[in-house]
Amino acid sequence: MVIEGVSKSFGDFTVLNDINLAIRKGEFFSLLGPSGCGKTTLLRIIAGFESPDIGAVTIDGTDVLPLPPNQRQANTVFQNYALFPHLTVFENVAFSLRIKKLSKGDVNAKVLDYLKLVQLEAHAHKKPNQLSGGQKQRVAIARALINEPRVLLLDEPLSALDAKLRQHMLIELDQIHDKIGITFIYVTHDQQEALSVSDRIAVMNLGNVLQVGTPHDIYESPATDFVARFIGETNLFDATVAKVEKLDQPLLPSIAEGVTEYMAELEIPSLGRIKVTTVDEIKQGQKVCFTIRPEKIVISKDKPSTKRGDINLFQGAVDEPIYSGFQTKFYVKVGDGLLIRVIKQHANYSDEGPDIVWKDQVYISWSANDGYIVGV
Ligand code: ATP
Repeated sequence: MVIEGVSKSFGDFTVLNDINLAIRKGEFFSLLGPSGCGKTTLLRIIAGFESPDIGAVTIDGTDVLPLPPNQRQANTVFQNYALFPHLTVFENVAFSLRIKKLSKGDVNAKVLDYLKLVQLEAHAHKKPNQLSGGQKQRVAIARALINEPRVLLLDEPLSALDAKLRQHMLIELDQIHDKIGITFIYVTHDQQEALSVSDRIAVMNLGNVLQVGTPHDIYESPATDFVARFIGETNLFDATVAKVEKLDQPLLPSIAEGVTEYMAELEIPSLGRIKVTTVDEIKQGQKVCFTIRPEKIVISKDKPSTKRGDINLFQGAVDEPIYSGFQTKFYVKVGDGLLIRVIKQHANYSDEGPDIVWKDQVYISWSANDGYIVGV
């Protein structure tokens, strides 16, 4: 599916601003962004419930904008399930086949196949009000899939479910996607959901697509400070480039051939100088943003013994440890009072656990490869 130059305004308000996306066949693709960023509007444009002011949408090479929703082969699963309350599970799923006047035998066989896919065979006779939230959502998925669309559009399909069930349904959705192999476009504002199931993610804000990439790309190399902050927890600081040197030997493990890598020194107010590797062309004196994920920072009571030149090392005091079983989160006060978030995973049974406590003097360190300059 290709979305080309799609823009949409409601009155003076621009909801989508020149959206360009190429979504691969069979991909689990997520539109991720905060409430109001325009992701549902984009999904509704693909489905045919809304028209763009300008732009094109093609599915498998067919321009779908002139087509009504039922001819686009892009079916939607809505957040509120939108089931017919007076019909049984079986009849909800069979509905569109009955309209198409398929034979009784064909309808039975097909509906049973799809009820099996979503593990609801035993509930075929029930009405929606006799089902749990997760079961209702599975009926909605079976109903949207039974016409064998080319694309399944999912608009925050799990947001009405509690956290545990959401996790479970997410795994089921992923398995259904693997089984049927069609394109899924999944709208969510939940970064954990998007990271855990997507092949690729488009991060949106204020009607713009800020970055498209694999979950790993988006998490590890956020393109803007918004993406860094929106995806997971991070430390984000304004900084000034103090020094830049070309590196002859690349330090980044996955650097592409022909790409130049630089070692930069950044001056961060209230902290001091830090080193960071980058492939961005930056100049001395330039204002940039620096980000480092809390789990990339090593925290210890003893001074690390490494002599590596690419390690950033600071001393500070633990301001606020938050223990949560598998990990402890710390705020460490360094320099002139700058707070740095650090996460220590309690990896195995020999781990000492919460051995670092409030007010402890600690060392925090990270490699120049672990931080990023964003928004250049
Ligand atoms: P959410 O996660 O809250 O559903 P979203 O990213 O899906 O948010 P949209 O539903 O696409 O966002 O809405 C984007 C903006 O467009 C919002 O500010 C919304 O109020 C506005 N909007 C959406 N539909 C209309 C409409 N029919 N008329 C006027 N404004 C609209």
